[in-house]
This record gives sequence, structure tokens and C-alpha cells, in this order.
Amino acid sequence: MDVSDQLGRPLHDLRISVTDRCNFRCVYCMPKEVFGPSFAFLPRAELLTFEEITRLARIFAGLGVHKLRITGGEPLVRKNVESLVESLAAIPGIDDLAMTTNGALLTAARAEALKDAGLRRITISLDSLDNQVFQSINDVGFPVEKVLQAVENAAQAGLNPVKINMVVKRGVNDQDILPMAEYFRGTGHILRFIEYMDVGTANGWRLDDVVPAADILARVGAQWPLEPVTPDRPGDVARRFRYRDGEGEIGMISSVSQPFCQYCSRARLSPEGQLYLCLFGQTGYDLRRLLREGATDQKIEDAVRSVWSGRRVRYSEERSQATPRPKVEMFRIGG
Ligand code: SAM
Ligand code: SF4
Ligand code: SF4
Repeated sequence: MDVSDQLGRPLHDLRISVTDRCNFRCVYCMPKEVFGPSFAFLPRAELLTFEEITRLARIFAGLGVHKLRITGGEPLVRKNVESLVESLAAIPGIDDLAMTTNGALLTAARAEALKDAGLRRITISLDSLDNQVFQSINDVGFPVEKVLQAVENAAQAGLNPVKINMVVKRGVNDQDILPMAEYFRGTGHILRFIEYMDVGTANGWRLDDVVPAADILARVGAQWPLEPVTPDRPGDVARRFRYRDGEGEIGMISSVSQPFCQYCSRARLSPEGQLYLCLFGQTGYDLRRLLREGATDQKIEDAVRSVWSGRRVRYSEERSQATPRPKVEMFRIGG
């Protein structure tokens, strides 16, 4: 039976972070100074197995979840993640299965394997078309061309429309807003601009670094007029706009300037099986302990129901009043 929280928000989406590791060191997510060679990532035994993840996802589906997104860290660094996709796709009630990736490992063969396993949609992150800028962001020297190739690999495999996530940080890549829009216009891919968020504590976020979605929209719209598209669902995090000349659409994820907590129906599962009720969560609820203590499905379902029923969090709507506090890092719960 479906479950709602204290603000009447149902539980519809689950984001599953399958690893805390990543082959990039994006400065706004896993800055090298913090996530250097001596950083202790989770040992393998601490990670949920694919069987454990699938079991949890099935239980969540029983509570009303119909949309799953596999993320990380970088989900494609987890070995044989295709087999997890296959098990998740087979869960009754799951009608949408997506992945967010940096694309570095998304070869044509891998994209096809993911599609064949049952992946429906893919989002590929790319913050600039300028190699110097992109490499200064990913901080491992990864070239733009390879990510663009990954986008094409995904499209060729039939994972359409491919979404592209661009996190905009003032003074870092805001000059790339128009070139990115121009590049993806008319391709069928959907570029989504994301306001730089104060997730975690490692990235030293400042409000001044955020370019508000309204500014981005004005800049793109001045060049190529736009009109709003009615959202598919009220809970959609991206506001959609289409080019009036028919060259496709873009999305705006304005979690800082226009929070959407009111509709947030999303839970997050960390690689080690902690359940988080918000991207800005402080602590998780330990589902792995229940799994490994031999709890029945019913017991786990009751626990999730009770945690979700007590949920009140709406961090982004309260951000301006919030006192600074420790928060979970993005690479643990996957955005
Ligand atoms: N590694 C994969 C990737 O980069 O696509 C998946 C995980 S990543 C944490 C998920 C998304 O969060 C990416 O699109 C990334 O750009 C975005 N992200 C990371 N840190 C962010 C921040 N501080 N503000 C806004 N978006 C952020
Ligand atoms: Fe890795 Fe994605 Fe974070 Fe970049 S945003 S460091 S690719 S997890
Ligand atoms: Fe949901 Fe938390 Fe983001 Fe608000 S701040 S939309 S509650 S994840």
C-alpha cells in the first residue's frame, strides 16, 4: 500500500547510488584535496549487493515507487551494473528506469548492453564544450569529445531522448551556456541547466556562485525564443521550455532559486544501504542492517513506511533560514 509523509508527499521515486567511487574529481562534487589517494572509500563488503538492492527496490515498489534512477559516484565503475539493470527492470510496478552517468565509460557496446538489459533513459553530465574548462572541472583531464561520443552512443542504442546535465557555476562555466544550447539544439537531446547546489560540505559553496535559472533562461531565450512546456507531472524537478522555432527543448533545475520540495517524492539509497529522505540529509536510516540481520520483507517494508511517514524535510525551501550543519556528500547519494 502507498505511503505519504507528514506534508502529504507520496513516495514515488527511488535514487539508488551503487558506488561511492568515481573516475572524475569534479571540483564541485569530489574535490581532489578531499578525495585524494588516501581517501577511504567503502570496502566492497560494505556495499549492498545487487541482490540486496533488487530486494529493497521490490519492497519500495510495493510502497508506491514506480521510478528508479541508478546513480553514484559513477555508476558505470561498478562492475556488471547491467545485471542490476536487468533485475530492476523486471520488478512489477517499475515503469521508469534511468541512469545518471558522466559518460566516461559509456562505449557503444555498453550503451547497447544497458538498453538491452532494460534501461529506459539516460542522463549524461557535461558542463562545457571547451576542453580547458571541462578538464578544469572534471580535474582528471577527461576530454569533451569522449563525452559527446557517449551521448551519441546512448542515442544510437535507442536511449532517446538523451538528457544532458550541465551544472552552471558563476565564473567557471556560465560563458558556456549559449554554446551548449546551440550545440544541442536540433539534435533531439535535451539539455538541462542545473543551479549549482550546496550539497555536502566539501565544495565550499557560496550563494554568489549560483547563476539563477531565470538568468540562464533569459540568456538562452534572448538568442532563441522559448516557451514553457506543461510538465508531465507536478513533481518533475525540471521545468521544461521549448524553442519556438521547433528545434527542441531545454530544462531548468532551479533547486536553489525556486525550490520544489513541496512535490518531492524522492527517496535515496546510499551504496551501503542507508535510506535518505532528502538530498541534503544529515543521517540515513540503516536498511542494510535489517537486510543482514535477516529481517523479513514485511519488517523492512514497515520500517520504510514508518520512516517515510515521519518525513517533514524540505531543505531547499528552508535554506535561507538554515543554520550551517553537516550534510551527506553528493557522491554518496548521487544527486
Ligand atoms: N557521476 C554521475 C554524473 O556525474 O553524472 C552521477 C552522479 S552525480 C553526483 C549526479 C549529478 O549531480 C551530475 O549531473 C552532477 O553534475 C550533479 N552535481 C554534482 N554536484 C553538484 C552540485 N554541487 N550542484 C549541482 N549539481 C551537482
Ligand atoms: Fe563523479 Fe559525478 Fe561527482 Fe563528477 S559529479 S565527481 S562525475 S560523481
Ligand atoms: Fe526534496 Fe530535499 Fe531537494 Fe527539497 S531539498 S526537493 S526535500 S531532496
